[in-house]
Amino acid sequence: DGPAGLDAAVSVCRACPRLVRWREDVAATKRASFADQPYWGRPVPGWGPTDARLLVVGLAPAANGANRTGRNFTGDSSGDWLYASLHRVGLAALPTSTHAGDGQELRGTRMVAAVRCAPPDNEPTPGERDTCAPWLHAELALLAPTVRVVVALGAFGWAAALRGLAGAGFAVPSPRPRFGHAVEVPLPAPPGAALPAVPLLGCYHPSLHNTATRRLTASMLDDVLGRAAALAGL
Ligand code: SF4
Repeated sequence: DGPAGLDAAVSVCRACPRLVRWREDVAATKRASFADQPYWGRPVPGWGPTDARLLVVGLAPAANGANRTGRNFTGDSSGDWLYASLHRVGLAALPTSTHAGDGQELRGTRMVAAVRCAPPDNEPTPGERDTCAPWLHAELALLAPTVRVVVALGAFGWAAALRGLAGAGFAVPSPRPRFGHAVEVPLPAPPGAALPAVPLLGCYHPSLHNTATRRLTASMLDDVLGRAAALAGL
């Protein structure tokens, strides 16, 4: 029954026992530096307008980031990079995203995680990935009338986005295109559908490992997100 219903439904999902235990344990014990803050400790729903033209697909919530704040990429170092870039290319109102009441707003952009509960070591199992996939499929089906561009952060997000787009009816080539930074693959709508082709753009994940090693720089991130904004007409 629409995006609000989807967000409400996903936020109480308990389908992955290991991840339910982890998200709740982290929320109960808390990192010392956040000891005075409430933790969300639940699946993190999509964030951003539900008629978005650009969808950003990440991996999973960070244990002390979105698993704490309840908002994708909010309150961790990956988010610091991502929101700064989104702001520079005109897609976010603020250059930072610290907590759910900080006044941040996304313009025409929605963010989702391929796996919606924080996994230990940021590594969901293949089984958890597959169990969570229907939530992304549902999100893409709801966004299909408006979405014009999808950006996948990292190989995991790329594979999840391809599966989700295929599930939503977009034509995904076989063999599936390989992930790479700034790779751009147009995914045509099936014959007869009143939908345009949707370009899928790959982008290195702004993880601490990638940014600290300069595998991903701010200008590389800006280039992909700026390109996505232009393709989406934002
Ligand atoms: Fe549910 Fe996805 Fe969380 Fe698993 S990871 S419990 S499927 S929301």
